Amino acid sequence: MEHVDAAGTDSTPLDASIGQEVYDLAERLFPICRSITGDGVRQTLDVLSGHVNLQRHEVPTGTQVFDWTVPKEWNIQSARITAADGRTVVDFADSNLHVVNYSVPFKGILPLSELRPHIHTLPDQPKAIPYRTSYYAPAWGFCMAHDRLMEMPDGLYQVEIDAELKDGSLTYGEYLHRGKTEREFLLSAHICHPSLANDNCSGLALLATLAKALMTRTTKYSYRFLFAPGTIGALTWLSRNEDRVHLIDHGLVLSCVGDAGCPAYKRSRRGDAFIDRAMANVLGHEDGAKLIDFSPYGYDERQYCSPGFNLPVGMFQRSVHGTFPEYHTSADNLDFIKPDCLESSFRILNDVIDVVEEDWTPLNLCPKGEPQLGRRGLYAALGGYKSFGITSMSLLWVLNLADGQHSLLSMAERSGLPFKELAAAARLLSEHGLLAGSL
Ligand code: ZN
Repeated sequence: MEHVDAAGTDSTPLDASIGQEVYDLAERLFPICRSITGDGVRQTLDVLSGHVNLQRHEVPTGTQVFDWTVPKEWNIQSARITAADGRTVVDFADSNLHVVNYSVPFKGILPLSELRPHIHTLPDQPKAIPYRTSYYAPAWGFCMAHDRLMEMPDGLYQVEIDAELKDGSLTYGEYLHRGKTEREFLLSAHICHPSLANDNCSGLALLATLAKALMTRTTKYSYRFLFAPGTIGALTWLSRNEDRVHLIDHGLVLSCVGDAGCPAYKRSRRGDAFIDRAMANVLGHEDGAKLIDFSPYGYDERQYCSPGFNLPVGMFQRSVHGTFPEYHTSADNLDFIKPDCLESSFRILNDVIDVVEEDWTPLNLCPKGEPQLGRRGLYAALGGYKSFGITSMSLLWVLNLADGQHSLLSMAERSGLPFKELAAAARLLSEHGLLAGSL
């Protein structure tokens, strides 16, 4: 039988250990204390730079970005609460979640009654440390397990937060994989959360690994990978690139891509952008996958999809943020993310890139009646090529819909078949001179 390699396109081959590679990178990022500014972001970009050659940007404190202003830079050395008997109650060195992110410096001795309003816990999850921030209101605070708070006797406590807020800069990194055209696919992940594995060490590690894999692939589109702090970082990038955002044809925000929940996609504000259709097709063939309509709550798709931009940018995640108990707590740790789930997320992104790269509109050159497939050795394909991802139904659908009005993605929507099957069928039919047109 003629050998037909349906995977014979330029798509990125998947290494069986890719999930482990992503996990290992997430594990290296996990301990770093990140925030919307500061050395934690720089250290994170240093680690990611081992995978991909990032361009780094520093935007000074006070820079106006639309309705926002780049804040003072925050860095922290240490923080702890010590009881009267000298015992340490909480220590930033044990978990960077113990301090409210962006806490102003503080030093003093307080009775529990005065300290209590500065302590955040989760009574419903008494063993977990919550994640709290105070970026734009000067405040200080600690986060701890509710059980630990309940054990604190009345009395005096020594409190010390050795942090610094100063004029500095906001840091973000980006990498552009140049394709044959200037049209862009934007992939963006927030880099501002401290030790939370799924949200978003998983997204950062996945994007860096994907960028590295893409380096060896010749693509039609250019791929921009953005590692920026949530909200203010995305706004800063948009304000510095306002004149070129019209080049973005597709975009995805990634967060929480490593847990065992089923994959989920939140549509762009447009709702019918190519990326919305491509994600719907890829996830339509994943067990339990969810498609969610756009809402102005979530991650940086809020900025990309604000009415002044309305970019075709959706959001890919697994368990929907805010709906799982580990979300924004110390339970979002390295046990909560799994190499095989990261691998599944990687494969989904790879499949979506294949749709973006390989969609085209074929024209059937033998449209009157069905062409005689047996004479061309294609009748065997009705069974024989199945192992290469080509089924009889995909051949018949492509022939039937190749009227010059249907791209392969619209054929996939109409037939309910996976895009990759139709793409493989179209390649085979093209090789046998039955289709005109090309990628
Ligand atoms: Zn978050």
